[in-house]
Amino acid sequence: MKYCNSLANYSRFKTREVKVGSIGIGGSNPIRIQSMTTTDTMDTIATVEESIRMIDAGCELIRITAPSKKEALNLKNIKEELAKIGYNTPIIADIHYTPNAAEIAATIIEKVRVNPGNFADKKKFENIEYTEITYNAEIERIREKFTPLVRICKENRTAMRIGTNHGSLSDRILSRYGDTPKGMVESAMEFLRICRDEDYHEIILSMKASNTRVMVQAYRLLVAEMIKEEMDYPLHLGVTEAGEGEDGRIKSAVGIGTLLADGIGDTIRVSLTEAPEFEIPVAQNLLKHFEGIEKHDYIEKITKNPLHSFDYKRRKTNEVLNIGGGNVPIVMANFCLKEKITAASFFALGSNYSVPLDKWNLTDMAADYVFVGNHDLDFEVPGTLGVIYNYKKWIEHKKGYPFLKINDYLDEEEISKKLNIVYVCLADLCEELFDKLKSDTTAVLMIDTYNQNGISEQRKLFTELMNNGIKTPVIISRSYDDLSEEQLQLSASSDLGALLLDGLGDGIFIAAENCGSYQSINSLAFGILQASRTRISKTEYISCPSCGRTLFDLQETTAKIRKETDHLKGVKIGIMGCIVNGPGEMADADYGYVGTGKGKITLYKEQTVVEKNISEEKAVSALINLIKKHGDWVDRN
Ligand code: SF4
Repeated sequence: MKYCNSLANYSRFKTREVKVGSIGIGGSNPIRIQSMTTTDTMDTIATVEESIRMIDAGCELIRITAPSKKEALNLKNIKEELAKIGYNTPIIADIHYTPNAAEIAATIIEKVRVNPGNFADKKKFENIEYTEITYNAEIERIREKFTPLVRICKENRTAMRIGTNHGSLSDRILSRYGDTPKGMVESAMEFLRICRDEDYHEIILSMKASNTRVMVQAYRLLVAEMIKEEMDYPLHLGVTEAGEGEDGRIKSAVGIGTLLADGIGDTIRVSLTEAPEFEIPVAQNLLKHFEGIEKHDYIEKITKNPLHSFDYKRRKTNEVLNIGGGNVPIVMANFCLKEKITAASFFALGSNYSVPLDKWNLTDMAADYVFVGNHDLDFEVPGTLGVIYNYKKWIEHKKGYPFLKINDYLDEEEISKKLNIVYVCLADLCEELFDKLKSDTTAVLMIDTYNQNGISEQRKLFTELMNNGIKTPVIISRSYDDLSEEQLQLSASSDLGALLLDGLGDGIFIAAENCGSYQSINSLAFGILQASRTRISKTEYISCPSCGRTLFDLQETTAKIRKETDHLKGVKIGIMGCIVNGPGEMADADYGYVGTGKGKITLYKEQTVVEKNISEEKAVSALINLIKKHGDWVDRN
């Protein structure tokens, strides 16, 4: 199934242009950046002021929630106030559950976003058996509810986003498809078909999920479906409930970056649990990473495609020590260019030395290997840490394991009996190498690239290995110079995440010079593995960015919950400002903290409500008790 123009050579998937007021989305327009206000829509002044901050930061479209008719009507005041001071940025009304609000908004502003999971359906979490007849009757019911909005949009030249959210699929879709990427696509298609029957095409589509794997697969499936049905609607990309800070940036870049590299996407929103104007530079920097990518050096086509782009399947590899096979991907740190390496240097890599105990203590984010080049280490390193030396250095003392260039590997007689890291680029692949790798149970490839489209070049390299039956584990290496810490987060997360999401890679190596501290690079490496769901080393927070529906202070509460729980490795906590995506998003969370009224919180264990409407003051402790009750609590060390 084809989902992009080429797996090897970048070009943007061509979509039709949809006009949202004065802004064109899709076609040959640049990829647009948008975000959403967090204020109460009835507070005109606060919403206008926040919109201005967003626009001044570079936001090209402003989304505002319209939970009911009165907020939809107030969009007019907001629009007029903005226009009075010279701001004519298109406004999008965000609609859940309220067709009547959508119909009003569509006459006032430039675009409405509808969620097909809840536009015409109330969620009861029921599993219903449908026959063809009863299913079609449901579709007819949706048609009746949705068609008036489509006609209003058509008449007023208002654009529409059909925005599917993994967390709020209808009971009908869940009953038939489960909460799968296929279900997400079908959810949008039900609405899209109605639009097409009405000859209305000012449509943009999105497939958001907080799980990057699901999100990427859903967009790819959607594009494949569009190609099949000869459709070309623009795509809005986003990872929903990505969280905040470093985690939010990494997760967004893994999901959005993977698709941008595929040439998919006409507008993006980076959803962070932060003020919306802070999302804009992140989105800009993410796009910057792909600037000029179309001019990359040509990569030969992939003629036989062994990849699993729509369902996750990890490439099968041999186990070499703790690399490959069933092991989680390893993190190899780079100390090669460090002036001096001391025991204290390893603190930055998550290994702490206790002098009184004379013992190394490894955190959950302790690097597994470190490449030290030609350095000598005259102290004991943590027992489980593998030290990699340049081949010539290794020959001198035979400590640790060697790092070999391809010629060293092919020519030299003496290599490690346990582990040899062999550095290769796509151009190095040859029959001689394949033959040697096939009989070598000690080799691990470290693959690198100098191509501006490094993702595709490394993907091509993986396909060559797979098509030639090579099961040697692979560490994906990428190099960066002189980037800000945030730019490195976005660039490395896109580059490495895109391959990890496709089940490729048994380890990662980020060689970054002048891009931040060793500690931040180590944390980034573990963050990328966590965001691509290949190795879990910390608590995961699925927190919504907040909007006008939010029923408590998201940022403050998230910080409070994080302070108490950030040592609970692998526990996923959903923090939702309201119920819209709440229960559904719990499919991906172990525990949920959801606003259900002013100052009222409902707690979930997965998708089941366990405590209803508890007061906000008591809610964090109640959440901790709930985690304890289910045996997921551990005390801090
Ligand atoms: S989950 Fe959060 S961002 Fe989504 S509608 Fe509710 S409050 Fe707004």
